[in-house]
Amino acid sequence: MELTGRSIIGSKRGATSEASLQGFNPATGEALSPGYHFATDAEVDEAARLADEAFASYSKTSGAARARFLRKIAENIEGLGDTLISRATAETGLAEGRIKTETGRTCNQLRMFADLVDEGSWVDARIDHGDPNRTPLPKPDVRSMLRPIGPVVVFGASNFPLAFSVAGGDTASAFAAGNPVIVKAHHAHPGTSELIGLAVSDAVRECALHEGVFSLIYGGGSKVGTALVKHPLIKAGGFTGSRSGGRALFDAASSRPDPIPFYAEMSSVNPVVVLPEALRTRSEQVATGLHASVTLGAGQFCTNPGLVFLPDSDDAKLFVAKLRELMIATPEQTMLTPGIRSSYQQGVSSRTNQVGVATVAENGATSTCAAATALFQIDTAGYLANPMLSDEIFGPTTLIVTYRDKEELFKLVSSLEGQLTATVQGTDEELSANQELLDVLQNKAGRVLFNGFPTGVEVGHAMVHGGPYPATSDGRSTSVGTRAIFRFTRQVCFQSFPDASLPAELKEENPLGIWRLVDGAFKK
Ligand code: NAP
Repeated sequence: MELTGRSIIGSKRGATSEASLQGFNPATGEALSPGYHFATDAEVDEAARLADEAFASYSKTSGAARARFLRKIAENIEGLGDTLISRATAETGLAEGRIKTETGRTCNQLRMFADLVDEGSWVDARIDHGDPNRTPLPKPDVRSMLRPIGPVVVFGASNFPLAFSVAGGDTASAFAAGNPVIVKAHHAHPGTSELIGLAVSDAVRECALHEGVFSLIYGGGSKVGTALVKHPLIKAGGFTGSRSGGRALFDAASSRPDPIPFYAEMSSVNPVVVLPEALRTRSEQVATGLHASVTLGAGQFCTNPGLVFLPDSDDAKLFVAKLRELMIATPEQTMLTPGIRSSYQQGVSSRTNQVGVATVAENGATSTCAAATALFQIDTAGYLANPMLSDEIFGPTTLIVTYRDKEELFKLVSSLEGQLTATVQGTDEELSANQELLDVLQNKAGRVLFNGFPTGVEVGHAMVHGGPYPATSDGRSTSVGTRAIFRFTRQVCFQSFPDASLPAELKEENPLGIWRLVDGAFKK
């Protein structure tokens, strides 16, 4: 399949007029062909106009039709085979195994949403029957359900070039809910984006959907990305990336004359709390698990544990020595982009110079885009005195903060910002004896783990990958799992409607056979 370097705008391809960006192999420094052309203002407008037009028909498609579309996308992605694997590995420096696993996850995710909408109960249909005889006033018949919100703009993430990019979780959930999607491609993997974009637009055509259901736009975030978020025909957005980028786009979405929801997943340090008995009995096991989690994928996971609260004891010395040994023995790894690598280097060198911070291990990186591990330690007072120490450093590093007693631990967890995850390592007895700690953690994080590590997000029905700000811009949401669909919906209520004019989900006879809340009781 030949790459063209142009945006995909409905069924057409973008022009070749504006500045181009080049794919780049972070492992070798080699530039990859072709050059990618930034979309013009007119093309951004055209994509939004087509998406708006497509919304009229796509929002009314049945769950079965959307399921067919999502399954077709998955099939087309699988059909890309080695072409996708070789382009994605070249553009990201990620190993073939990782790209294959992520392709599998992307396709499973699409099929999971297909199953959800095929079954149909996700629309949360509610029926309160009327009562004309109620006194003093008759009670009206009231029915409600979730409806799609309108065209959604999705920002592809650098760190999941498949599962959180062009046909990733945000796109799959927006499509499943009945919304057209415009993806702003991430500059770190333009060729991978085009391959997946073609797989999606082929599925649009094969399922005979309106061409505006999908567009893929190349361009800089500040210009093209902001123009998309501010476009009056766009109704919501999804994003994964930096706090500064996510915040800028969230602010753009909120300051529109008609503000729209913008779901940005941004920064999280994913604290791991080690309790004394876990440290005493499983020190080596916890150190080994933590090391694997911190260094996985060069630390480029949003759930990378960047902060460890450790009891200050002799056991802690053994733990730190073991972790140090593992960090030092870890070979350097290729990061996704020169920009991510340079932010990591800056973060590590700045931490080295902070008052009270001991550098326990720091390896030097040699090759292009490479990151080496770094391990730091400080005590509670030093940590609490310096707010910079709670900032995310995106890469294979972590900061150990030692605490002397329960009171210091409580101060540490209370000082945390919103997080995607918080982890407790302890015994069952310690967990029961620390209810106060758990109460704080569940107010701070979207997912609280016990005796595990936060990298490795299970994609399913119960998963929550979200959390209070700055983990995300809206702590009521998740970007992973079937609950992600709710972000791109609106509740609509129909009052005193004749049955014939109600959506199928709300008709009296329940023709779709879905679960509904009828007069306060769940029934089919
Ligand atoms: P990023 O810089 O936030 O970029 C993500 C997307 O947002 C890109 O499409 C980018 O456009 C756009 N963008 C960035 N700043 C913008 C702004 N001010 N206005 C409008 N659009 C903007 O993220 P990244 O490139 O993936 O990585 C950079 C850093 O983000 C990393 O070093 C890391 O700290 C953080 N990060 C965090 C996570 C996480 O899950 N916690 C994941 C990935 C990255 P361009 O194409 O113009 O860049």
